[in-house]
Amino acid sequence: MSDTESALLNELVVALKCLPSVGARTAQRMAFHLLEHDREKGLKLAVAMQNAIENIGHCTLCRTLTEHAICRICSDKSRSDETLNFKVLYDSDLIVNLEEKQKENTMDTERLAQIIDKSFMTDSGRQTAREVLLK
Ligand SMILES: [Zn+2]
Repeated sequence: MSDTESALLNELVVALKCLPSVGARTAQRMAFHLLEHDREKGLKLAVAMQNAIENIGHCTLCRTLTEHAICRICSDKSRSDETLNFKVLYDSDLIVNLEEKQKENTMDTERLAQIIDKSFMTDSGRQTAREVLLK
């Protein structure tokens, strides 16, 4: 074995030793195994390692490993938060509109109660509407 070849082999063994619970002997066995029997898989391993290390980071919200700035779970959560915000805004608009109709006396209390029961998107919106409009 020439100096260059053994230098490359040593480099591989030292590199493999960075893995947890891989000592010198195991690293040597892995290196020989890859070079003697599994060169193709060795290359796949190298490419997968490089891709993962270059492209995987931590979710900015929960620190989970992810390829994106925000992981799928967190982005699903923020989407449902948006929906909740939408519902709250919808309900508060509805309360304002119903208040106006009430002031104009264009709607009787029974009809108003029906609308309150059916039209609100959140329980708290419905409750607030009952308190504000049905006294
Ligand atoms: Zn996350």
